[in-house]
Amino acid sequence: MSDTKRALNFIEHIIEDDLGNSHTKDDLRFRFPPEPNGFLHVGHASSICLNFGLGERYKAPVNLRFDDTNPAKEEKEFVEAIKRDVEWLGFKWDKECYASDYFQQLFDWAVELIKAGKAYVDSQSSEEIAKQKGTPTDPGSNSPFRNRSVEENMGLFMQMKNGDFEEGEHVLRAKIDMASSNMLMRDPIIYRVVKSAHHRTGNDWCIYPMYDWTHGQSDYIEQVSHSLCTLEFLPHRELYDWFLDQLYEESKLRPKQREFARRNLSHTVVSKRKLLRLVEEGVVTGWDDPRMPTISGMRRRGYPPAAIRNFADTVGIAKRENLVDVSLLEFHVREELNKTSPRIMAVLNPLKVVITNYPDGHEEWLDAENNPEDETAGFRKVPFGRELYIEQDDFKEQANRKFFRLKLGGEVRLKNGYIIKAESCTKDKDGNVVEVQCTYDEKSRSGSGTEESLRKVKGTLHWVSVKHAYEIEVRVYDRLFKDENPDGHKDVDFMEFVNENSLTIIKGLVEPSVKEAKVGDKFQFQRLGYFNVDEDSIEGNLVFNRTAPLRDSWAKISTEINNKN
Ligand code: ATP
Ligand code: MG
Repeated sequence: MSDTKRALNFIEHIIEDDLGNSHTKDDLRFRFPPEPNGFLHVGHASSICLNFGLGERYKAPVNLRFDDTNPAKEEKEFVEAIKRDVEWLGFKWDKECYASDYFQQLFDWAVELIKAGKAYVDSQSSEEIAKQKGTPTDPGSNSPFRNRSVEENMGLFMQMKNGDFEEGEHVLRAKIDMASSNMLMRDPIIYRVVKSAHHRTGNDWCIYPMYDWTHGQSDYIEQVSHSLCTLEFLPHRELYDWFLDQLYEESKLRPKQREFARRNLSHTVVSKRKLLRLVEEGVVTGWDDPRMPTISGMRRRGYPPAAIRNFADTVGIAKRENLVDVSLLEFHVREELNKTSPRIMAVLNPLKVVITNYPDGHEEWLDAENNPEDETAGFRKVPFGRELYIEQDDFKEQANRKFFRLKLGGEVRLKNGYIIKAESCTKDKDGNVVEVQCTYDEKSRSGSGTEESLRKVKGTLHWVSVKHAYEIEVRVYDRLFKDENPDGHKDVDFMEFVNENSLTIIKGLVEPSVKEAKVGDKFQFQRLGYFNVDEDSIEGNLVFNRTAPLRDSWAKISTEINNKN
């Protein structure tokens, strides 16, 4: 969908209003602020598309900001993965920023708060602090340390900074209002002691700022105009503004926090913490397992970045959380792959066909169109011979008139090849058909220009020549969770809904043109679906992921969406 054609979303309305009042176009700046504590998932992808999409629409810079204030959970590996994912989605950030670059400035501002009597060191345990928080309806009570003198606070804070205290002994709290109706305003903690090395600042610091004391200030330092976050941060907005009030200078631009609804996708979970459990408990092989809703998992599965962008565009952003059906994402994947992926023939459940009137030992190389959706894609040659494989379920000894595949006495066209007729079949001792004997109409070859080549028969089957078939490993995926909303059950852990049969590994046989395929190459296996070459491939054993089956359940969703609009 072109950006300029669709209606404005509510965030764009906010920006348009600001452009008419407080802001000029040059003021606009956005950011995408991941915490490098895991891999990005499809929810992040929508936040990326939102922020970078605004950047494109308003020709404004977008920063990639790592919100790296928790050294215990963050790693360089995640930073690299996040950068790769954002780039792969097709976006370019203006500045690469790190909250950790602002540690000194945040510390200096905290000192100013102390000096202004607006922050104090609390020496209670976290349990005691929690007890005094009150409830949403009852005010909290003051810490006995709330009225420490500026000197005492300064002394203790310096000692915290110098590593004189252990974790949990003291924290720095903003002195706001223990009776505020917003619990987050009840003297929030802004600094804590953490004695872990940071992936960027090493052991320079042993106190670390909390999210709330970091985020808005980072926006301010970078002069981000609109700081977009998910709805759970709505109650944080008051605090975001309170902190900015303490340091804001008139000559500067004042960032605004605005909230949108988290993107939830059906049949999966979108939370790094939960995805980590899937990895740690061995349900999947890693963050980039093709069943994972991570960007790296989707990339490995063969999802094109354009499909993810189009999906994000179609769903748009909302003010209220809802569950988006994963088939909508799959629809966009198919739509994109249909345009771009070369067709090949592969047989996944082979049944041998012998063409009894085809000359023994003879072979020919037939012209096959690479992609009917793309005129520039050209043709390739596929080998044809007396012995072929077709899919087992493309043959039945007897079937009714609606079965347009091969049945005894019936005709089908072999894709790019001849019309064949099933004459007889051979069965094993259990009664399974193991071979079908056919005859072919030698004048019926597709593209040969003869009258017979134009003859229409109802069914067209894909096939692979026995002599030239190349064996591959195929990984067929099903949904990772059996439940539509595994995360949505109050008393049941989402892990209970894991689908134990989400991966099936089979052997497949493909036409020889596929032998040279490289990791990441994408194909449509005709009549079967979209497949791509997995990085587990080694010389002599190509591994394919089934990206998506060919048929879609889009019809159902499209009606749902139309009904909603
Ligand atoms: P998680 O709970 O998975 O760790 P998070 O919000 O803690 O997610 P961050 O790295 O802090 O992860 O998020 C970076 C940005 O992505 C934030 O602006 C956040 O609001 C946004 N984001 C995270 N998850 C989603 C989601 N499901 N839908 C939309 N935006 C999201
Ligand atoms: Mg987070």
